[in-house]
Amino acid sequence: MVYVLNIDEKPLMPCSSVIARLLLKQEKAKVKRRTPFTIQLLYKTETEYTQPLVHGLDSGSSIVGSAVSDDKGNVLYMSQIEIRNDITDKMKQRSKYRRNRRNRKTRYRKARWLNRKNSIKKDRFSPTMTSKMNAHLKEMKFVQSILPITRQIVETATFDPHALRNPAVLKNKWLYQKGMNYGYANTKAYVLTRDGYRCQSCKGKSKNKRLEVHHIIFRSVGGSDEESNLITLCKTCHDALHRGEIELKKGGKKKGQLNHATQMNSIRMQLLKRTNAEETFGFVTKEHRQLMKLPKEHYFDAVTIATEGKGARFQTHQVLFKTCVSDGDYQQTKGVRSEQVIPTGKLFGFRKFDKVQYKGNEYFIKGRMSSGYAILMDIEGNQVDFKPIPKFSKMQRVSARKSWMTIQTIIPSVYSCVT
Ligand SMILES: [Zn+2]
Ligand SMILES: [Zn+2]
Repeated sequence: MVYVLNIDEKPLMPCSSVIARLLLKQEKAKVKRRTPFTIQLLYKTETEYTQPLVHGLDSGSSIVGSAVSDDKGNVLYMSQIEIRNDITDKMKQRSKYRRNRRNRKTRYRKARWLNRKNSIKKDRFSPTMTSKMNAHLKEMKFVQSILPITRQIVETATFDPHALRNPAVLKNKWLYQKGMNYGYANTKAYVLTRDGYRCQSCKGKSKNKRLEVHHIIFRSVGGSDEESNLITLCKTCHDALHRGEIELKKGGKKKGQLNHATQMNSIRMQLLKRTNAEETFGFVTKEHRQLMKLPKEHYFDAVTIATEGKGARFQTHQVLFKTCVSDGDYQQTKGVRSEQVIPTGKLFGFRKFDKVQYKGNEYFIKGRMSSGYAILMDIEGNQVDFKPIPKFSKMQRVSARKSWMTIQTIIPSVYSCVT
């Protein structure tokens, strides 16, 4: 699949690689981007045929899934973004450097504090929040730049708090699949979050990762589906409980932390505020993903969101994996007296986080040496050990440093036509 832009850089429907090759050969188009492969037409098109496309986004505090589908369930784009989680550490490090510098160089200067406009501003978001929010918005903008998106759906939370109190709100909203108990799925998602995704019997000691939701008063004797009658148990404890080997400790209302939910909440509110996106919830996605028999992957969650659970036909098998990195380098010097300047510009024509080709594979630059060598890493940031150490002269620069590193992988064609 090749993404197509018109002469004014407006996105059109994607085309097959055969057509793209023909257009490039006839010099009717030029290459605009390599990952994902995007071409731009060099002639004016009279009729621009587009279809309604839905962008589904599975928001998250560390991994975001993203996918695009048309109204027939044809999947045209998939990606997974790892967003930055190093902001707090970086800020702490910077403040440490500054404190140190003030002690060394400006000791006699009068103390000033609470003088930062930003930190006393109302509705201020912390740098971590801002970074996470921007990562979501950036992906939405990116998708809009390569495909003519008409609708956006964002999964904002795992459960719908309104539906918990009033199940009637679920009635008209998501009738994608008939005969499903969305209300119970929502309560289950809530109970898991309330219990902090931890077995409430062994508190995680059994190491069984599989969590189930148990009815304290069994359903067979009239126990309700309300959250007060539900509790999170791991499979080991759950089975033992039903065999009568263990007993639940009574009393003490299980009040778990909803910290994660509240922390993500402001990101979600902002996403809905700043875009025209519609909202969906994790429990709906989960039910639909299981119906579609797709494995638990963030990009498959996004596919489920974009196709609204109606079934997916994978027109593309490419998944873009993106890792967000910093825009620039803060540290400029090293050495006890900052006597050694660290080159932040190009070195032998290469910058940190540049994508390079070396021995037939693609890597990213992790570190550079002025002696002409580089340390390479994969998309996860793991150093790749080469012997001998790679030389700059032996590698080609594929693309310049961006605020995310991107690689493209192919999912097995098992998922070519899941309906
Ligand atoms: Zn347990
Ligand atoms: Zn049970």
